Amino acid sequence: MNADASNSALKRRDSFAHVAEASWGKGLSTLLRITRMTLRHPWQVAITFISTFLAATLQLFIPRLLGQAIDQAQGVIGQGADSGAEHALWITALILFVVSMLRGFFTMLQNYFGEAVGHQTGYELRLAFYEKIQRLSFSFHDRVHTGDLITLGLLDLDGVRMFFSTGLVRVVLLGVLVGVGAFLLVRTDILLGLLSLSFVPFVAWRSSVTQLALRSTWLMLQDRLSVLSRVMDENLGGIRVVRAFAAQAHELKKFDRAKEAALELAKRRVDIRVGNTSAMNLSFFAAMALVLWFGGEKVIAGEISVGTLAQFLTFMTILQMPVRQLGLMVNSFARASTCGTRLLALLDLDLDIKDAPGAKDLVIIEGVLRFENVGFRYAGASSTAALSDISFEAKAGETIGIVGPPGSGKSTIAHLVPRFYDVSSGRITIDGQDIARVTLQSLRKAVGVVQQDAFLFTTSIENNIAYGNPWAREQRIERAAESAQLHNYIIGLPAGYTTVVGERGASLSGGQRQRLAIARSLMLRPSVLIFDDSTAAIDAGTEQRIRTAMRRFAKDRVTLIISHRLSSLMHSDQILFVENGRIVERGTHAELLAAGGRYRALYDLQLRPEDERRARNEGA
Ligand code: ADP
Repeated sequence: MNADASNSALKRRDSFAHVAEASWGKGLSTLLRITRMTLRHPWQVAITFISTFLAATLQLFIPRLLGQAIDQAQGVIGQGADSGAEHALWITALILFVVSMLRGFFTMLQNYFGEAVGHQTGYELRLAFYEKIQRLSFSFHDRVHTGDLITLGLLDLDGVRMFFSTGLVRVVLLGVLVGVGAFLLVRTDILLGLLSLSFVPFVAWRSSVTQLALRSTWLMLQDRLSVLSRVMDENLGGIRVVRAFAAQAHELKKFDRAKEAALELAKRRVDIRVGNTSAMNLSFFAAMALVLWFGGEKVIAGEISVGTLAQFLTFMTILQMPVRQLGLMVNSFARASTCGTRLLALLDLDLDIKDAPGAKDLVIIEGVLRFENVGFRYAGASSTAALSDISFEAKAGETIGIVGPPGSGKSTIAHLVPRFYDVSSGRITIDGQDIARVTLQSLRKAVGVVQQDAFLFTTSIENNIAYGNPWAREQRIERAAESAQLHNYIIGLPAGYTTVVGERGASLSGGQRQRLAIARSLMLRPSVLIFDDSTAAIDAGTEQRIRTAMRRFAKDRVTLIISHRLSSLMHSDQILFVENGRIVERGTHAELLAAGGRYRALYDLQLRPEDERRARNEGA
């Protein structure tokens, strides 16, 4: 098998830069931590282990009882039914029955409580995982792919969850069966005992190797299947593009290649499994043949009874299953160690955006937003700062327009106000309170951001608008929709406000989705409302109407409008022209036009031709 390929498959899934390659020491400490986690349910763990121990011990009685029964049956045949031998046989049969019943009962307890502990640990981990994801900062999400997080939350979590029942419990089961069983057999007859156990090392080795090989091919298969599903996902998502460009043949070929790769691996897995199962069967039956041969000779020589020989054979049959499962146990340890290391690395991450010690709620009095010499650099990005020396002040009721070429840092300014990222230098205050020192909860309630890519949940329009305030009254939802110029459209829909918007809001146009996002932000009545290029997909006329409708509410809040379209922000009280992360010009529309700088150049490009045409028309 190709070890390099499997390693690269593992690495690709392991995209957290700070997750070290799982070393032995790390793997071991992970397993210890998982074990400690399961011990949070001491009663269930104790019941599972005791039941496993009892089930295995009882199972060890079965070969002996069977052997005894066979000898007694021979006695009945030899000495006649009235000799008392039949009575003894009945008693042995009864004990055998009771022992088997009890063994079944304890196995049931072992399975039930083993699963219960696994599920409870899984449940706790899932909660911790989900909570962590909610609280990790944007810079974390910038680094880590969503697909990797989903894998972590589903597959890796499962690997950890199963560790108790498929790993730890098996240690006890195998330990008792092999350890105590071997002792009993060897004590009965050294040669036969060793022969009956002769298949154990080989089967244990092959089973472990098989399971580890199956595991690494499984990881590679996962990787290839994810390529397959990505091809399918892109094809379905871009179905219009595919059809429009008549690219079906190309797409089919792409799918074929991905499918072939997955199929080849699936075949290799079958080979590994079939080959090893046959080898294990062979070694088991060879050992059995040896026991029969030498045991048979001993029976003939009168050294042991037929019952004792049967005892050895039964014991081998009982032992072979758990020994074959040894590979599953090894696999469970390996899986829990890699999956657990990844998962715990995420759970241990320090939150970089969190409440400062002793943070108090933000108190809004006048609603003044101030940037004081703010500088910002993205973590891990190139050495250039995204923002330098940004200072401005906005009072409630004022609108600040931020304009500049793409990549100049406009959106970055927007992301700093709700603390999606923390400033690298300087500070941002609202009514004199440093936003880094107030509680995140109160800050995010006070700051609304309408983003360019409006995300809608697959639920009704009403629920989407009321997302930040699920208990809002209907009138309030409608008022927000009216301000966002969406109300008339909504009431024209057959189901009105209860219309469910499709997958990621696909059934609304880009402009309608943005207006819905605007309504959603208005619901919170934020003290600072930021439009991050959020009117780009809305036509100029609708945008004008939204602005007029919002002006009624705007007097209590600061509005930041970020846009590359001058018409969106030319009416602002103050306009900041940003370039390379610095404010290079500032003033009102008239002042900036008069200054004749970059803003003026942009105006000449975007609006002057339009203004002049209008002036000519009016003059004519
Ligand atoms: P604008 O909104 O003006 O188009 P941005 O604020 O989005 O500009 O980006 C400013 C600079 O920061 C750009 O050079 C951009 O490549 C970089 N940048 C933006 N977002 C990130 C991010 N999440 N990680 C690293 N760099 C980023």
